[in-house]
Amino acid sequence: MAAAVEMTSTFSADSINGRRAPDALVFSIEDYAGYLQLRAFIRPYAAPLNRQERRMAKMKAAIFVGPGRIVLDDKPIPDVGPLDALMRITTTTICGTDVHILKGEYPVAKGLTIGHEPVGVIEKLGSAVKGYAEGQRVIAGAITPSGWSNACLCGTGSQDGAGTPHGWKPMGGWKFGNTIDGCQADYVLVPDAMANLAPVPDGLTDEQVLMCPDIMSTGFGALATR
Ligand SMILES: [Zn+2]
Repeated sequence: MAAAVEMTSTFSADSINGRRAPDALVFSIEDYAGYLQLRAFIRPYAAPLNRQERRMAKMKAAIFVGPGRIVLDDKPIPDVGPLDALMRITTTTICGTDVHILKGEYPVAKGLTIGHEPVGVIEKLGSAVKGYAEGQRVIAGAITPSGWSNACLCGTGSQDGAGTPHGWKPMGGWKFGNTIDGCQADYVLVPDAMANLAPVPDGLTDEQVLMCPDIMSTGFGALATR
């Protein structure tokens, strides 16, 4: 985990406004932005983990612990279910929504990994996922609907209510960094992968597609449903 060593040395306690939590670093929004740039540089050169290493390994994640506090700490690398894909994040960014979360203006559960703009590589595919390959460069949408709820079948996946009595739930389709762990981490688990992954063409860099998971798709979605 050479990347973790790099990160730790970059974010010494001195660089974080003199504050330090017992087991994790507390960092300002400027440090937070710097961290993500650092990760974007480092991750493409990290070797994929084999199955045994992945089961044993921890990953770094930006975790909301309370208003004004997002910490960088260890979490287990998620297990992959039949319909999921485990994505190794190579580039991500901060949305204005993340700043609202940091300020306590938008409530999410303590302990949640934030972030909903993933660009990366498929590390592991669920057994039932077809049409994608491990090692493939992909993005996943910020909104990750199930694809089968009433809302999804009516073309409004952002209101996905899979598992609810009527199949609708306001903003239920937005899950990353809201109701499930998000992508400001070494890895993110993409639910219902066949509905939510998109391949990145070879000629495009991570930075060129970084706005597609959220900003571009939100804009197109707003136009389509207005
Ligand atoms: Zn966003």
